Amino acid sequence: MTGLSPFITHGVLTLPQVYDHLVQHVQLTPGHKLIYELGWREYFRHVWAHRGEGIFESLHDGPLPESAYDRELPSDLRAACTGVPVIDQAVRTLYATGYLHNHARMWLASYAVHLRRVHWRAGADWMVAHLLDGDLASNHLSWQWVAGTGSHKPYLFNAENVARYAPAAWHSPGTVVDQSYETLERIARGGDLPAQEVDARVAASSCVEPLLHDTPASELGVKPARLLDARQLVGRSVWLVHPWALRAPPDNLPANTLVAGVYLRGFHQRWPWSQARWAWVDSAMAEITQERWWLDAGELRALLSQAASVRSLDDPHIGPELRALARLDAPARLFSQVDRPCGSFSKWWSIASASVWEREKR
Ligand SMILES: Cc1cc2nc3c(=O)[nH]c(=O)nc-3n(C[C@H](O)[C@H](O)[C@H](O)COP(=O)(O)OP(=O)(O)OC[C@H]3O[C@@H](n4cnc5c(N)ncnc54)[C@H](O)[C@@H]3O)c2cc1C
Repeated sequence: MTGLSPFITHGVLTLPQVYDHLVQHVQLTPGHKLIYELGWREYFRHVWAHRGEGIFESLHDGPLPESAYDRELPSDLRAACTGVPVIDQAVRTLYATGYLHNHARMWLASYAVHLRRVHWRAGADWMVAHLLDGDLASNHLSWQWVAGTGSHKPYLFNAENVARYAPAAWHSPGTVVDQSYETLERIARGGDLPAQEVDARVAASSCVEPLLHDTPASELGVKPARLLDARQLVGRSVWLVHPWALRAPPDNLPANTLVAGVYLRGFHQRWPWSQARWAWVDSAMAEITQERWWLDAGELRALLSQAASVRSLDDPHIGPELRALARLDAPARLFSQVDRPCGSFSKWWSIASASVWEREKR
């Protein structure tokens, strides 16, 4: 666990930078587990590139028909008062830090889908909004992997597993997760759901879910379209910094290039963020831009209509909307580009990892 994910998701660090740093400072080799993990991130993006909006629907049938699952996350889970310590601790940690270890993400997703029978999509939409590293491909496809709609079997865990990997406060003996794998499997495949016993003491101390916001708070100082004037851009070059490319612009831009941060309204209305994420992203964006804009794609087009040139970096979260307005540089690659759709990580890895070994020889 490196804690790098928010920096990678938001483009502060590229995968080649992460790799080179690790090789130089901790003598990492291309066969190290961490390179594999970076590979999972890229693989999920590969699936997103080929499936597009399809990643927001089940990739294939799961253990039960879609109609068996609730479309809403239960309020006790959202309020961290299920009475199952591992779940309540995970939810509290998510709200307090915007981060969860991979195990905790898997436990939370597995509990929601298989023990509360909530549709993976409801859980994925909720979690991605609270994570600082929320990435639509890694998040939604990981939920599908846990649910069994993106893998061949549901991911299950029990109290013993938690006791092995988590601190004592997370241990959950005697709760609904304290079952054999046979019982859990039976439940996941349609057996009776266990009764949820919400502990009154836990319920009384329930935590409050942070609000989600689909617009930047006014105190951040992001300018709305009505305060922007296209005349300031006539004949100027513009470099757009967006939330998935929070790094300094290339140094070969024409003098007098305006470096502007951009938040596109359509994206944020669909995928709201916690206040903590807005603050994290916006402080990084403020450091590297001259001003930041909040507008929709049409307003951005009008604003940039007389600019000499407009450039930015590609990223699947925003690229489809920016492509018509700006020349997008391809993201720096660690793994080889794989054009043929690969239905499994191992197939993708056998092609994509070649470039990592090549890099090692240099
Ligand atoms: C239900 C669920 C939801 C998830 N949602 C996200 C998400 O929104 N954004 C996100 O970046 N990751 C997500 N992950 C993957 C993984 O949990 C996080 O990348 C990891 O916990 C981040 O912590 P780290 O940087 O310390 O990871 P490390 O273990 O230090 O790994 C280094 C980097 O490798 C990548 N990585 C590691 N494991 C995975 C993985 N299993 N899948 C994809 N990439 C991985 C990340 O970029 C990570 O920063 C999710 C996993 C699950 C099970």
